[in-house]
Amino acid sequence: MLEISGLDVHYGGVHALRGLSLTVGPGEIVALLGNNGAGKTTTLAAASGLVRPSGGTVVFDGHDVTGGRPHRVTALGLVHVPEGRRVFSTLTVHENLQLGGYLVRDQAEVRKRIDRVYELLPRLAERRAQQGGTLSGGEQQMLAIGRALVTGPRMLLLDEPSMGLAPLVVASVMELIAQINAEGTAVLLVEQNATAALGIAHRGYVIENGERVLDGPAAELRDDPRVVEAYLGGV
Ligand code: ATP
Repeated sequence: MLEISGLDVHYGGVHALRGLSLTVGPGEIVALLGNNGAGKTTTLAAASGLVRPSGGTVVFDGHDVTGGRPHRVTALGLVHVPEGRRVFSTLTVHENLQLGGYLVRDQAEVRKRIDRVYELLPRLAERRAQQGGTLSGGEQQMLAIGRALVTGPRMLLLDEPSMGLAPLVVASVMELIAQINAEGTAVLLVEQNATAALGIAHRGYVIENGERVLDGPAAELRDDPRVVEAYLGGV
């Protein structure tokens, strides 16, 4: 469904991705793991058209979207939720969700999707009139994911949804992602929290310095001594 092949990204003199290849199939949650600066965020940015690669291709659902325009990529159903929960802080929860529908012509469909988000996330429903900036970190992360759901994604690109959240809140964000996936949306999940990500992922990739160093089923990665030592804090 998503096929990234031989991707190279340069930022001036920095070679951030070096021939990176990965795939995400329909119905999968794929974890993309790696330390600070490994190139995880860059991979998502290249997939969603925010960054133009210097080499390689990104194909989504048979469409070559390499270096494509972000709104076109979104309209195809490949939806990026960037790092740092960028909710609009002076807009209400409801207005934030409505913004997710800006590319959707059918407003009745948008209302249906927003209702579904409220069903999935009753905490947001209770806070629909509250300003985004006054939500807790976890609620803002839920809102950022909820807004992405209103765009009607077929695949979500999630950048460190656990960042800065307490462990219990991380667990509920991961549960939400698993539930969205169970309803048919594929997910490429960038995480520094390898334990959380491998808890819900089917497969995973580990990258270092812009290169893929390991990949396999999540259960295998969880037991791989190299992953345990580098990303799961040893045993
Ligand atoms: P983190 O977990 O810290 O977010 P990451 O794995 O997401 O890290 P990237 O943000 O993709 O890593 O960065 C990969 C490399 O590219 C790093 O060396 C980073 O400094 C560099 N880089 C990223 N964005 C830019 C930019 N806009 N200009 C210059 N260099 C950049």
